[in-house]
Amino acid sequence: MAEITLGPPAMPTGKKRIAVMTSGGDSPGMSGAVRAVVRQTIASGCTSFAIYEGYQGLVDGGDMIKEMSWEDVRGWLSEGGTLIGTARCAAFRERWGRLKAADNMVEKGIDALVICGGDGSLTGADKFREEWPGLMNELVTSGRRKPEEVLPYRHLNIVGLVGSIDNDLSSTDATIGCYSSLQRICQSIDFIDATAFSHQRAFVVEVMGRHCGWLALMAGVSCGADFIFIPENPPSENWEEEMCSIIRRHREMGKRKTIVIVAEGAHDRQLNHIKPDMVKDLLSNRIGLDTRVTTLGHVQRGGPPCAYDRMLSTLQGVEAVKAVLEATPDTPSPVICIVENKIVRRDLVKAVELTQNVARMIEAKRFEEAMKGRDAEFEEYWHAFNITTATDKSDMLLPPEQRMRVGIIHVGAPAGGMNAATRAAVAYCLTKGHTPVALHNGFPGLCRHHDDKPLGSVREVKWLDAEQWASRGGSEIGTNRGLPSEDIKTTAYCFEKYKIDALFVVGGFEAFTAVSELRRARVQFDAFKIPMVILPATVSNNVPGTEFSIGSDTCLNALIDYCDAIRQSASASRRRVFVVETQGGASGYIATIAGLSIGALAVYTPEEGIHLNMLVEDIKFLKDQFAKDVGHARSGKIILRNEKASKTYTTEFIANIIKEESGGKFDARFAVPGHVQQGGTPSPMDRVRAVRFGVKSLQYLESYAGKSRQEIADDPMSAAVIGIRGARVKFSAMEKIETQETDWKDRRPNDEFWLNLVDIVDTLSGRPKAYRTP
Ligand code: ATP
Repeated sequence: MAEITLGPPAMPTGKKRIAVMTSGGDSPGMSGAVRAVVRQTIASGCTSFAIYEGYQGLVDGGDMIKEMSWEDVRGWLSEGGTLIGTARCAAFRERWGRLKAADNMVEKGIDALVICGGDGSLTGADKFREEWPGLMNELVTSGRRKPEEVLPYRHLNIVGLVGSIDNDLSSTDATIGCYSSLQRICQSIDFIDATAFSHQRAFVVEVMGRHCGWLALMAGVSCGADFIFIPENPPSENWEEEMCSIIRRHREMGKRKTIVIVAEGAHDRQLNHIKPDMVKDLLSNRIGLDTRVTTLGHVQRGGPPCAYDRMLSTLQGVEAVKAVLEATPDTPSPVICIVENKIVRRDLVKAVELTQNVARMIEAKRFEEAMKGRDAEFEEYWHAFNITTATDKSDMLLPPEQRMRVGIIHVGAPAGGMNAATRAAVAYCLTKGHTPVALHNGFPGLCRHHDDKPLGSVREVKWLDAEQWASRGGSEIGTNRGLPSEDIKTTAYCFEKYKIDALFVVGGFEAFTAVSELRRARVQFDAFKIPMVILPATVSNNVPGTEFSIGSDTCLNALIDYCDAIRQSASASRRRVFVVETQGGASGYIATIAGLSIGALAVYTPEEGIHLNMLVEDIKFLKDQFAKDVGHARSGKIILRNEKASKTYTTEFIANIIKEESGGKFDARFAVPGHVQQGGTPSPMDRVRAVRFGVKSLQYLESYAGKSRQEIADDPMSAAVIGIRGARVKFSAMEKIETQETDWKDRRPNDEFWLNLVDIVDTLSGRPKAYRTP
């Protein structure tokens, strides 16, 4: 076919017309991503389209490509699956299908495409972009389109969002949907756990993941499974005996239940499929366990997205539109990723290549490289899983002079994941030959009982005790808000008496304060010249030195469940706004992230405060919103107010003002979820991060083994906070954090990384920014 020359690629001028679609397997959070893309597109002054039924809709065109309005995506954040549908489309794999798709795009005047799907969908997207100039040429040479019709579309902008429950794309720590799926799996395993314990049974649980073991690995870490099978790292040649000996040993040590998790794509080192029934037969016949198989199947895809997926899909959807608007014809297509806590753009082609490379490595039986091909987190979790389930420690034990007595203490209010962190720390200690010593009921507990004999508040923890704690909420060793300064002398005395060589502190701002006090008291007391690490654990996520505290994810999930129920009630009664009071102390983190995750109308934080003008403008905004709502379902609205946002404008007061000023056009109520926000069972994210950070913290403490007290005291890093900072997990010196990064008066970090996210809540609810200025 003759080529025609259209000249160099150029960006279409004027308002962009951006389409969004979902493709491949559905995943929870996809609808939230569509909502964010649609609203951010409209908020950026562009025109938004949705392509229904994935690439099939693009090939079919017509009504399958619809212009979207702001109201069309109302309430989508909390919906599971994808409300614009998805499909596997054979036609798009063929050039004629892609030509038809290109023609439909020109027809609708679409010049940018945001695709949310797995690596297959992103591969298709890249192919489409690569072929685009050729497709445009063909439309002209075949007479379907006139040159002037295709002229504005010489360049196609593609941005990828990764929606997949498997978390199989390299370059991102998490895909949209993977944590929701993990939550569903862990809920099921937690239920199975209870019956397994009651009957002393074994369960073999098959989870999704044909090529990727992320779900199986994370479920194993989160639920304290005994053995897992993942495709990237098959067990040894003699896996039957390896598994049986570990499980036999666990039983001998007193475990009443056995959980084995098998990824769908599990195989041995020769790539022979390992089926759940094979595992069951081994457990029944070789160990004599009453064993059942549970295949979780499609429940793993279902249900509403968890808080993390709602936040991720929202932030990534917003970023995708920004990427479209910033792209030039030379920009490689990006895929929006997350690394630890940072949303980043990565090269789409490279990310897909890396992902496919892992599959190739598995096929070539190069398992070490396959493991490395996943993100760094993956290997760390694998290591953490092995440490927490290892029973044969002989090759991991440290020489006696490097073994320590590690004190473990919980400080402050309970937070999800505290027990999981403690379990990991205990398992790590026992594996390496350290002695884990639980200091029960915080510092007051330690001081109160210091004269007790062995069974006082200071107890060595046995493997079996901690083994049961993987999924438990609250604090098994007891927690207390009291600080060492309440009786620093006795605290030092107890540290000496119980020969504490290293301290692992789990807790929130009080824990941070406690470690600060101990560090400063080193000049008076040699007992405190030991390495100390604090693992931040608090629902408020207000500990300096980290952007993430364990417990905060559990809290957000409890809060979004609560808000979903409230919103349903508000929608059912029509025209009602709820003002919901969140916890968080003087930090607006929880309110803001919950606001992002439920699509709140507005968020009131202590950082910003509440002003009269703000309330007046917000009431006008509400009137406007309810007026536009006529004929639309899901009209319940929520304002989130942090408990300390204002002394004067209380939650009830705000609800009353809104009601009074509504002119009878709508109703307002207030709701205070209170301690519900501490959550029941900790979320899988809190549990897995607790395990990973617990192990990392212990490795860190261990690095001080053998050092003199003075060497330790002279090293500022010997009292440290472990935390996520941007794209990294790192230890930061307490001395620096407490002097340079802490707002002691308001008990929060000086710089809170999430502050600008309030703007995104506003943008996506349509609340003009000017409303927030006093
Ligand atoms: P999941 O992770 O859930 O499997 P996925 O996006 O990888 O999601 P696929 O079935 O591989 O799912 O791909 C979805 C669709 O993307 C395919 O049905 C097809 O239309 C398109 N697609 C995939 N690979 C290609 C390709 N190489 N060329 C063109 N289109 C493709």
